[in-house]
Amino acid sequence: MSTLAAAYDAALFDLDGVIYLGPHAIDGVPEALARLAAGGTKLGYVTNNAARTPGQVAQHLRELGIPATDDDVVNSTQATIRMLQGRLPAGAKILPVGTSALVEQLAEVGFTPVDSLEAEPDAVVQGYHPQLPWNLLELGVIAIHRGAQWFATNPDQTRPTERGILPGCGAQIDLIASCVGYRPEMAGKPFRPLLDETVLRLDAEHPIFVGDRIDTDIIGAGNVGMDSLFVFTGAHGKYDLLTAEPVGRPTHIGADIAALLEPPRKLVEAGGQFACGDAVATVADGVVTMGEVPATYAGQLDALWAALNAAWSRDADATAVLDRLDLVQ
Ligand SMILES: [Mg+2]
Repeated sequence: MSTLAAAYDAALFDLDGVIYLGPHAIDGVPEALARLAAGGTKLGYVTNNAARTPGQVAQHLRELGIPATDDDVVNSTQATIRMLQGRLPAGAKILPVGTSALVEQLAEVGFTPVDSLEAEPDAVVQGYHPQLPWNLLELGVIAIHRGAQWFATNPDQTRPTERGILPGCGAQIDLIASCVGYRPEMAGKPFRPLLDETVLRLDAEHPIFVGDRIDTDIIGAGNVGMDSLFVFTGAHGKYDLLTAEPVGRPTHIGADIAALLEPPRKLVEAGGQFACGDAVATVADGVVTMGEVPATYAGQLDALWAALNAAWSRDADATAVLDRLDLVQ
């Protein structure tokens, strides 16, 4: 039977929780990527995190045994710049509220970075800054109050680090938003520009997006009408899937990215019964039930897929079934 990947010409991957966890590759990922590449699937790596350059991310991937080039990595700064080029005239004066790397990248493409209100900036562009100067925030707020357009790289509220969860770009955006009363136009997931930029880069016609978070990855794919594969190696799990709004429901689920090398799960629906593999979920009176649940991990993913689809399509509660799938987080 044909693999899931065979239905697409390209696969776009979120990184943390999909390809690696912190500094380490997730088990089997380098091998699966090598097989996908050998089979002709174009591979792209997509990250909201603009703290590292695409070259640094690609270098990290190569250290993990993944043969990525710098061009295979697309980050939210690159997507932001493409967005700005469509919205501002060449040479526009921009007040960057971000790192020197952001300032340099804006200058490289012909914008005029400015650092004072006297320069009358046309736009404020915000990106994550690990030592954000308070004075820069103040300049940003005043410039926006005076009519400058406001853009930002990505909405992530937090950053997972080895020291714990830290405030991310979204938290820095909130500081300005609390003064100006609205939020900026953003390029990163779940907004369009980042995925559009990656599709353009890979020249992909029918890509699939692979992610571990509903709010950024799966909704991001849904927002651009792209199919998605949700994997269980990262941040979100079965209960997040159950409560996902329609745009956040993935096209496929799999244990990890190796699911792309297997046939897709098939769902068969008839008269209130949803079957996947050996599992059958039944909906009655707004509740999803299931007889015996499978004892293997793959079997429990089948059961989960049957239960989720039953719950989603009939607006029913499948919590009791999900509770019994003890091998799936
Ligand atoms: Mg992730």
